[in-house]
Amino acid sequence: MIELIHEPDLYIDGRWTPGGGTDLEVENPATEEVTGRITQASTEDVETAIAAARAAFGPWAATPVAERAAVLRRLGEVLTERADLFAHIINREQGSPPRVARALHVDTPIAVVDATVEALERFEFRSELRNSLILLEPVGVVAAITPWNLPLHQVVVKVVPALAAGATVVLKPAGLTPLAAFELARAFEAAGLPAGAFNLVPGSGRVVGDLLTRHPGVDQVSFTGSTPVGRSIAAAAAESLKRVTLELGGKSASVVLAGASDELLAKAVKITVANCFLNGGQTCTALSRLIVPAGKLEQVEELAAAAAEKYVPGSRLGPLISADQRKEVESFLEPGAGGADAVTVTSPLGLPERGYYVSPAVVSRVAPDSRLAQEEVFGPVLAVLAAGSDDDAVALANNSIYGLGGAVWGPDEAALEVAGRLQTGQVDVNGGAFNPAAPFGGYKQSGIGREIGEYGIADVLEIKAVQR
Ligand code: NAD
Repeated sequence: MIELIHEPDLYIDGRWTPGGGTDLEVENPATEEVTGRITQASTEDVETAIAAARAAFGPWAATPVAERAAVLRRLGEVLTERADLFAHIINREQGSPPRVARALHVDTPIAVVDATVEALERFEFRSELRNSLILLEPVGVVAAITPWNLPLHQVVVKVVPALAAGATVVLKPAGLTPLAAFELARAFEAAGLPAGAFNLVPGSGRVVGDLLTRHPGVDQVSFTGSTPVGRSIAAAAAESLKRVTLELGGKSASVVLAGASDELLAKAVKITVANCFLNGGQTCTALSRLIVPAGKLEQVEELAAAAAEKYVPGSRLGPLISADQRKEVESFLEPGAGGADAVTVTSPLGLPERGYYVSPAVVSRVAPDSRLAQEEVFGPVLAVLAAGSDDDAVALANNSIYGLGGAVWGPDEAALEVAGRLQTGQVDVNGGAFNPAAPFGGYKQSGIGREIGEYGIADVLEIKAVQR
């Protein structure tokens, strides 16, 4: 039997101290076994953590940029040295197959750390404008509240730019996957981050998250999670007019233009399926809608079915995070979820005996206003929609409350032009790769603000004009 990962202490003010809240068991969704146990923070622990972050703020903000950059560069080195350990922990708490755990969950955030250090070294915190000196100053204490789908990456993309900017942080990780954050605290310690600059207070959203959101000692809340919770956090933060960064849900579209060659169409389908099913379909930028020329629909259905069948649950395709999440995902495969004429074109694949697995699905001929076309599934379900023209494809893509990711496939010039017309924070043209330095965030109800690199740093800065 595998030994439990046991984390009884919290990391507050540079010390490991016993948590005052109740214990919480962490389940491995691939085996349905308890894999870890943590002690959650009490409200007193949260108060102590906020006070520690406030006390650390002045000195950390005054630390020269080169020194802040050196600490964060060391953090990147420590994460690299311990990458296999992080992958192991994430494999256990989140269920990702080991290869995915390493490449997506660990190597990507390490690349983000490196890109953020580069951005910090170039960042202009002072500039001149006529008779004014423009000073960009860190906001103060940032409360980071993160989801379970990427237990390390979602933390790194907010915490590292905030620290780079000179802000200090109190982190509340997701209750379903809190373990990687403890190892991150150890990595910060090893990198020489001063006491109080990063504090870890795991606990429920209702208690710890809500306290952080309303607390007068917190200057900014940086939240990643679902759109409904984001809305309630924005409302709660409004009481004290706290600044809020929100990274929320998505229903991103992959648009194939009429001018795409057959070869490009095949590539588009293969990459869209891979992107939609990545991490068991549990990524916020999942290309979960594939919009194709109506005349190509049958060809696309064949290609998509062949691609989807390679995602065998239990090997290439990881589990969903919980039994509840599986129930929710399955509800999108009930008759009517994709509209009256929708057809599921993949054959059901066998499922492992244990674990919250589902068969990946491609549902075609989905109606534009159906639940499947409009709502975030957060599971391996791709909706295929037919467009009468390229303009129709753009209208279908923009027919969403969300605007987080997207993709366009077609002749370069036309594809770039369409990328400009999509109401979304990121667009990949003809398979453009994820850029760990590029701003990340959403239009519309996908969020407010940007994370990663120089835009992530800018997101936690106040702007001061000094006239002379
Ligand atoms: P969630 O909204 O349920 O929870 C996110 C975090 O908020 C958790 O730590 C939770 O404990 C906390 N929380 C819950 N209620 C709270 C409250 N009232 N006050 C303060 N904190 C509270 O989201 P989830 O289920 O963990 O994650 C899945 C969602 O996250 C999906 O909708 C997905 O699209 C979204 N997501 C968005 C991005 C992005 O960058 N845009 C990235 C990853 C995930």
